Order: sequence, then structure tokens, then C-alpha cells
Amino acid sequence: MIPFNKVYITGKESIYINETLNNGAISGNGYFTKLCQGFFEAKYGFKKTLLATSCTDALEMCAILANIKTDDEVIIPSYTFVSTALPFIRQGAKIIFADSYIDNPNIDVNKIETLITSKTKAIVIVHYAGVSCDMDAIMALAKKYDLLVIEDAAQAIDSFYTGKDGVKRPLGSIGHLAAFSFHETKNIVSGEGGMLVINEEQFINRAEVIWEKGTNRAEFYRGEVNKYGWVDTGSSFLPSEIIAAFLWGQLENLDKIQAKRILLWNAYYDILSKIDLKGILLPKIPSYAYNNGHMFYIVARDIDQRNQLIATLKENGFHAVFHYLSLHDSSYYRDKHDGRILENSDKFTNCLLRLPLFYELEVSQIQDLVNKCF
Ligand SMILES: *Cc1c(COP(=O)(O)O)cnc(C)c1O
Repeated sequence: MIPFNKVYITGKESIYINETLNNGAISGNGYFTKLCQGFFEAKYGFKKTLLATSCTDALEMCAILANIKTDDEVIIPSYTFVSTALPFIRQGAKIIFADSYIDNPNIDVNKIETLITSKTKAIVIVHYAGVSCDMDAIMALAKKYDLLVIEDAAQAIDSFYTGKDGVKRPLGSIGHLAAFSFHETKNIVSGEGGMLVINEEQFINRAEVIWEKGTNRAEFYRGEVNKYGWVDTGSSFLPSEIIAAFLWGQLENLDKIQAKRILLWNAYYDILSKIDLKGILLPKIPSYAYNNGHMFYIVARDIDQRNQLIATLKENGFHAVFHYLSLHDSSYYRDKHDGRILENSDKFTNCLLRLPLFYELEVSQIQDLVNKCF
């Protein structure tokens, strides 16, 4: 069976983990944490990064930093993972779910403005499959209504956006705050893991405090205060050095991993473009966006065609999966939703199918999959 995903271990992870074990310093915010954070800040120009225990936790830090309180409203796409919404719910917010585009699972920016009220505090966007949202339009709305923009960039490592000014910017560097994931299903992994990106100076000090259990320990270690104590809310959001050491083994190979994943994505696209797809649609990358090889998905005509395809793939030894069930229609949120029908989100819920894509997959296996199943 060709699995949907297979973790790629570069071989360096265990070497760096052993280094931390030999150093004896295995709690957080140590040598490898600083190496990883420095790597991201240098490579992508992020103002400040903090490794986190997961993307969900990095988003939780965003919700605290955004000062979200009971009855504040936060606009979020319905077609996403629960983690995009959960941190804001825990702060007491009301989630206003927005629909996707008809031909792209990202939030449809044309449908955001009518959802903004005097209670709206933030827009959380998701770069689905690592393909950028329309950031110029989103940032313009945020400016007009004085809202925060938080990028759920869980899938968007090493992906970019070119705005109207012609400048190519890394995803995660455009919103006020952003969160990445290193969960084992993403391009770069550490088992569980994530990262908060802070692009606004005003949030940096508070983010460090929230990260370190509400204490000013980070300032203390830099020698800026002579003792540290409890100064704010927070939690234990920082990962251990063992996780950071693992991540560093991956980051050293980022360009190699990305090149292979993009090669595989392009192979799927080229091979499928040449055949009669019987109404199945291929992913659409808007002209302002790029593809980071995170995920190759197709969109079936209807749920029956998708079920048939999953069965055919399985018979031929390929494991394909679907995901995201519209959050506005989930058992947890259905009663709290305002009743609007989000037809594109529901269409992707029923019709989107993700095909196997992982570092060790080969183009010949993709050719074989298409020959046998399409
Ligand atoms: C994977 C994912 C998350 C959650 O990431 P964790 O690191 O597992 O917390 C959140 N949002 C999106 C869009 C994701 O794909």
C-alpha cells in the first residue's frame, strides 16, 4: 500500500538529539531553539519567531496577544482544521464563519466585508495547501476596519505571495501574527511542533511572557531584569530542546525537501492535465500565489464520484484521504452558527480528495496511480 503520508527522517535528527542529551540541557529556549528561530528570521525576514509546542498552541498565543474577549467576533474560514477556531473560542469569542472561493478552498475575500461588525476584532486566514490567500485585499480590509490579521500558515512553510507592488513575500510575514505547524503531516516536521511569528514590534515582549508561563524569564536570561516573576497570563508554550534539535535536523534539509515535494506536485499536475478527468478539477493557484508542494488535491464532481475514486485507489494500493468537514456545520458549532449557508465550503467538504505526497514518493508511482485509477 502506498500511504497517504510517510515521515521523512533526514538522519540528522538523532545526531542533534544526542547532542542535547550530552549537553544535559533539554528544557526549552536553549541552543537548538535559538538556532531554529534564527534560521527562520534570517531566511524569511520574520521580525520575531518563537518555537511552540504546536501550531494550535501558537494560535492560542495569537488569541491571547490579540486580547480577544467574550463576545468579540473573529472571522474564520469554515473550511479549515478545528485548530484555527479553537483558540479564539477558548477566549470567549464568537466565530463568524466565512465561505471559500468557488474554485479554491481559501477564504473568499469578497465575502468578508459584509461579515464585519463593530464587534469584529480579527480575521484569521488559512493558506490552504500552502497556497496564499489574497493578502493585499485582506490587509486593506484590516486597515479600513482596524482589525488584526492572523495567518494560519500551518501548511504554508516556504510559500510566497506577490502583491500589487510586485514584491514577493514569504507567507507568515504579511499578517500581524502567524502560526506554522511541524506536525508529522506537514512538509517540515518535529512530531508535534509549531511556531509563532510576530511581525509587529508591539507584541514581541508580551509574546515572550505568554510563552514562558506568564513570567519575564526571557528578559531575565538576557540580563535585562535582575529577577523574574509572574507578570501576565500565559502557559507553557515552549517545546523542549529535544524537539528543537529534531527540527534543526529537518531545517538543514529544507531546500532539498521542498524541491522534491514541488517536483512531485508538478508531476501530478502535468500527468493529470493530459487525460480526460471526467469532471474532476485540478487545484488552481492564483497568479499572486505559489505552490510549496504541501498537498496535491483534486475536486470531484460530487461525493459519489469521490467515494468511487477512493475505492478504486484503495483497490490499487493507494491510500487517499479527504478532510475538513465545514466547521460551521460541525456538531460542536452548528447551534452557534448564524444559519448562513456556506456552499463552497460544503462542496469542498464533500468533493475534495488529497492524493499521496511525501518526500520518498517517486514520479513513477504517481504515473502508476494515474494509469490505474483515472
Ligand atoms: C495542521 C494544521 C493545524 C494544526 O497544527 P498542529 O501543529 O497540529 O497544532 C492548524 N491549522 C491548519 C490549517 C493545519 O493544517
